[in-house]
Amino acid sequence: MTAAIAPRAHIANLSPYKAGGKLAYDGPVALLASNENALGPGEKAAVAMRDAAAGVHIYPDPDYGALRSAIAARHGIADGERVVLGAGSDELISLLTHAYAGPGDEVLYTAHAFSMYRVNAIAFGATPKAAPETADLHADVDALVDHAGLNTKLVYLAEPNNPTGTMVGVDAVKALRAALPAQALLVIDGAYAEFLDDGVYRALQDFAAGREDVVILRTFSKIRGLAALRLGWGYVPRAVAGVLQQLRSPFNVNGIAVAGGLASLEDDAHVQVSRAHNAEWGVWLRQRLQALDLPTPESHANFVLSQFPSVAAAADADDYLRSQGVLVRRVAGYGLPDRLRISIGLEGDLKRCVKALEEWRVGGRAPSAAAHGSALTA
Ligand SMILES: *Cc1c(COP(=O)(O)O)cnc(C)c1O
Repeated sequence: MTAAIAPRAHIANLSPYKAGGKLAYDGPVALLASNENALGPGEKAAVAMRDAAAGVHIYPDPDYGALRSAIAARHGIADGERVVLGAGSDELISLLTHAYAGPGDEVLYTAHAFSMYRVNAIAFGATPKAAPETADLHADVDALVDHAGLNTKLVYLAEPNNPTGTMVGVDAVKALRAALPAQALLVIDGAYAEFLDDGVYRALQDFAAGREDVVILRTFSKIRGLAALRLGWGYVPRAVAGVLQQLRSPFNVNGIAVAGGLASLEDDAHVQVSRAHNAEWGVWLRQRLQALDLPTPESHANFVLSQFPSVAAAADADDYLRSQGVLVRRVAGYGLPDRLRISIGLEGDLKRCVKALEEWRVGGRAPSAAAHGSALTA
């Protein structure tokens, strides 16, 4: 008898992460599906990364001391040992799950949370658990606490959350931590932190500073415009830092990412310009979508979540947008099948998106073979 080569059962059952997607379209595609910074990486980072390319035959500093110190200095963190780097915050989610949750443990998050919390829980054999949100898609602190038990090892809260764009605020985070069981590590995902007032994450960081049971995750992928670079960081308790530093591979962040990250930290102007663009065009987009009778609640991040009259309508609108070269994000996989998530991209791309939705809304959509079946899923 021969044994088949097979992964462990819970690995075999993983469903692949669905990224923003790709589109077969003859012409430039309006990319509004992945919450990237449409303004680009910023000139300083771009130059630094080009220069760093000449030095990639040398391994990076395995301690990443310069970048960790620069992050600490930029963010007013007194203890730089508490800053841990990852190849994107995705890697830090993976490392945290690997270190703290396995078979018999539970990983808790909100009903429409970022999907990697669940994916990693399954990958490491832990039990994923979702707590219901409020009717308007906010995290519900009481529900999270109700769903936490003695087996809960990780609790994720994205502030603001993707794909809902909602947040609960500093006081609610503190109340959540106070009511969670002691063995559960609370992970606050700040992927969109820079789109908020500076005070929010300063306050969360001050709160985390005095605790052994709160982690804050940050990334260079969103407002800093470095999504392909794969660079994220965590502000973690010292004990957690020790664990993650041992568990990560020695060169988990590449040398070009170090250079790009350092330069990005010196480029506040790019962050400010990006934030202003997001504020201006987020308001504009929301108004236009509401005028089309597509309820679009306020979002605290660089995307909006629009509600369509039905599941079929959302799918149909998405098909039409694709036929017009506009790529937005279906969020059926997040349990929100009647909505589309639209990133706050460039002015021209947002105008194409709204124009296409206007055509779709008045039923004037051109019959097009491309409208059905052309969409490639990434
Ligand atoms: C985009 C995103 C991330 C992942 O960011 P990377 O640093 O690129 O891995 C994490 N959390 C949330 C909520 C996100 O939207």
